[in-house]
Amino acid sequence: MSTINLLDLDRKGMEAFFASIGEKPFRATQVLKWLYQEQVGDIDEMTNLSKVLRANLKENCIIEAPEIITEQIAADGTRKWVIQMGCNNRIETVFIPEEKRGTLCVSSQIGCALACTFCSTAQQGFNRNLTVSEIIGQLYVAQNRLGTEKRITNVVMMGMGEPLLNFDNVVKAMNLMMDDLAYGLSKRRVTISTSGVVPAIYRLTEICDVSLAVSLHAANDELRNILVPINQKYPLKVLMAACRENVKLTPRRKITFEYVMLEGINDSSADARALIKLLKNIPAKINLIPFNPFPNSNYQCSSAVSINRFRDILHSADLITTIRRTRGEDIDAACGQLVGKVKDKSRRHLKLNLVESP
Ligand code: SAH
Repeated sequence: MSTINLLDLDRKGMEAFFASIGEKPFRATQVLKWLYQEQVGDIDEMTNLSKVLRANLKENCIIEAPEIITEQIAADGTRKWVIQMGCNNRIETVFIPEEKRGTLCVSSQIGCALACTFCSTAQQGFNRNLTVSEIIGQLYVAQNRLGTEKRITNVVMMGMGEPLLNFDNVVKAMNLMMDDLAYGLSKRRVTISTSGVVPAIYRLTEICDVSLAVSLHAANDELRNILVPINQKYPLKVLMAACRENVKLTPRRKITFEYVMLEGINDSSADARALIKLLKNIPAKINLIPFNPFPNSNYQCSSAVSINRFRDILHSADLITTIRRTRGEDIDAACGQLVGKVKDKSRRHLKLNLVESP
């Protein structure tokens, strides 16, 4: 048997593993609790397992979480960790404390294969998908670092990468986030954000009940084809159909539509009216994100006046609209500023045909 990292297994995987070594399913319950509720990193500390079983586990399993390399704390309390993933790559994970909650912004890939023109992760190219242990490991090391005084109450899959292009691993990690034996977060508190990988939205709707956020950024195909090039493959009409399907069976749920505010590009009154028209009949919340600049970015953030005017137009059509407060700017921890260190393997440069749907 090859060595198994216990952090790679969700409950189903853990039960299958124990079945494969002739143990009962309740062993999975015990081990998950040790790992995620007691934060135990050593099999010998799992004292309700027999000595024989512990010896067997030590022979075949490891508990290996990724390692935090640096920690930066912003003036507003936002923390950014650079985390080592294998030899050559580093990703970034951000913790955003608020009065009543603590949100962890988790990465799903090393770099990103998509080429959204306003995002600094995109400029780095793509290296590989993160494993389950590297995704859930971000919560594991973050909660360890935060100790008992601050709790992670929400997770947003809004760090580096396109989570729906790492479908299986991301779903398993989100299962652990929501599993009562692991982190026990409610499905309203786990959000996956996608640029619009339509077949994967349908698959997600079928098998994993989390909150969905869609990076919209434009209300017409012509502009979205440029800002979010995956739109060339899955244009707005098919994207909106997938969104409708996602909320069909959960009547009170709303999809969050993210919309980055780019001066002179997508922030006019006409753009706001087009957005209202596009979102007609979809249970929606809109999150306007002031554009965060990064070196060599060719866009400017819309002025506060334009952003407020845009919001007011959406409000006048009864669309729930919030403006995302920028957090952690002074440590480059804001949306679209996460870079880490990516050894680009893709040489993709806008070659969208390289992007496989799952
Ligand atoms: N790939 C996923 C998740 C990662 S990005 C997605 O596209 O949804 C999380 C959010 O930050 C997305 O809405 C993304 O469009 C936005 N974002 C990216 N770059 C940004 C920037 N420079 N300023 C503000 N928001 C940005």
